[in-house]
Amino acid sequence: MGRHNLHVLLHTQVTRLVWDENRAVGVEYVQWDNPRLNGPLTPAPKSSCLRAPSTPAHSHLLGRRTRDVLKKFNIPEVSSLGGVGGNLQDHLNLPLYVQLQKPVALNPAKLRTISNLWDYFIHGKGDLGRAAIEGVGVMPVAHSQPEVGVILFNMGAVDSHLYSGISNMKLDYFHSTFPHMDNQSSEGFIFLATCLHPKSRGRIRLVSDDPRHPPSIDPNYLHHPYDLACMRDAFKWVMRLTRTRAMQELGASVHLPRYDECVRKSGRGGEGGGEDTRALYNEYVSCLVRVGAITGYHPLGTARMGRASDPETVVDPELRVLGTKRLRVADASVMPTHISGTPNSAILVIAEKAADMIKETWNDEKSLAQEKICSSSPDCEEKLLAKLSNAAGFSVTAAPSLTTVVTTTLLVFTTRTLAAS
Ligand SMILES: Cc1cc2nc3c(=O)[nH]c(=O)nc-3n(C[C@H](O)[C@H](O)[C@H](O)COP(=O)(O)OP(=O)(O)OC[C@H]3O[C@@H](n4cnc5c(N)ncnc54)[C@H](O)[C@@H]3O)c2cc1C
Repeated sequence: MGRHNLHVLLHTQVTRLVWDENRAVGVEYVQWDNPRLNGPLTPAPKSSCLRAPSTPAHSHLLGRRTRDVLKKFNIPEVSSLGGVGGNLQDHLNLPLYVQLQKPVALNPAKLRTISNLWDYFIHGKGDLGRAAIEGVGVMPVAHSQPEVGVILFNMGAVDSHLYSGISNMKLDYFHSTFPHMDNQSSEGFIFLATCLHPKSRGRIRLVSDDPRHPPSIDPNYLHHPYDLACMRDAFKWVMRLTRTRAMQELGASVHLPRYDECVRKSGRGGEGGGEDTRALYNEYVSCLVRVGAITGYHPLGTARMGRASDPETVVDPELRVLGTKRLRVADASVMPTHISGTPNSAILVIAEKAADMIKETWNDEKSLAQEKICSSSPDCEEKLLAKLSNAAGFSVTAAPSLTTVVTTTLLVFTTRTLAAS
């Protein structure tokens, strides 16, 4: 961290990329705890953005829509990319509470014992050091690749307000889904059932030219019919798992929520039985998914990697944004589809690989020394610094700023991550 060419800025939000034609040459940012920089943010008169082209059918519509938005906010085009903001995919999780008759689960009452506190704070071990996610499974249904997954969250009771907030569930639905949460000694665990490779695609849209405004995010869950069928398969797998001998020895029973809209619609038919009962049961499970499923917080795909010939591609295999120079995206948004599991480890690999590729690019010190911050005109560096000084409302010292910008390859955060921040 003490390296002269590495600058880490905390509590900082990038508000705009600075361009010299199609070369990204800097970023503008605000620091929320820096009184010098943290003034009221006036949107720059013209900011730059990647926008959609008027290419084939689907992209053509996409392009027209996006172009209208950019026009509305007076944002000039840097590169025509139809895929920016599209291809949004997330895992939908169906939470199911499994009650147990044997005292094997973690719960708040067990965690808060003196011996657990002693073990954790003195020896750095014990139940308080356990990750509550203690089981993960994936399974194929009709094809060879895993299609459904479960996560086992080993916690018999959780704080209703905290967890309904995290899972973005209304409190009454939370209590229908998770009974006995007020009893801190409850024995049980939570299964999160998911469809690993959903086919529905959502979209992120710009709604303002003020970078502080989050974009609109439409995950478009369950739009593709495959996804609902796949979620039903995930549910059925959970039911099968809880009927295994090992689970039955622990007295496992799944709590099936009685959401008003599902019970009214289907009468909650039981499993098995005749055709009618099975149809009612399927209808109940579909309703359970529609009403009770929550985000897995795994959004990705909105700046997908691919071939340059594909109109939906945003970055090339080296994470460089097509049609621009010195600009890479390194986060979940470059993943074209989900992996067969949770995404974080794959994203760490992308970040490691990005670091290697950036180092590789700047390895040649001679070419680095000759690199100019901008090249569109002989006096463009002076003009750029003057422009930046005006926009930020403070003076910029030329030498260190240039060194910083030249030796830094810019990594941008997509609108998806901007929303998450
Ligand atoms: C509650 C929760 C539980 C999860 N559990 C798991 C799990 O068990 N396993 C798993 O694999 N995944 C899990 N995930 C998903 C995983 O955390 C994400 O997929 C992953 O962190 C995404 O990485 P990223 O680099 O794309 O984005 P992020 O991790 O969101 O990183 C983006 C960073 O950029 C910063 N940023 C954004 N905009 C700007 C800006 N304009 N200027 C400066 N900085 C900016 C943000 O502050 C943030 O630090 C979970 C997510 C959540 C929310």
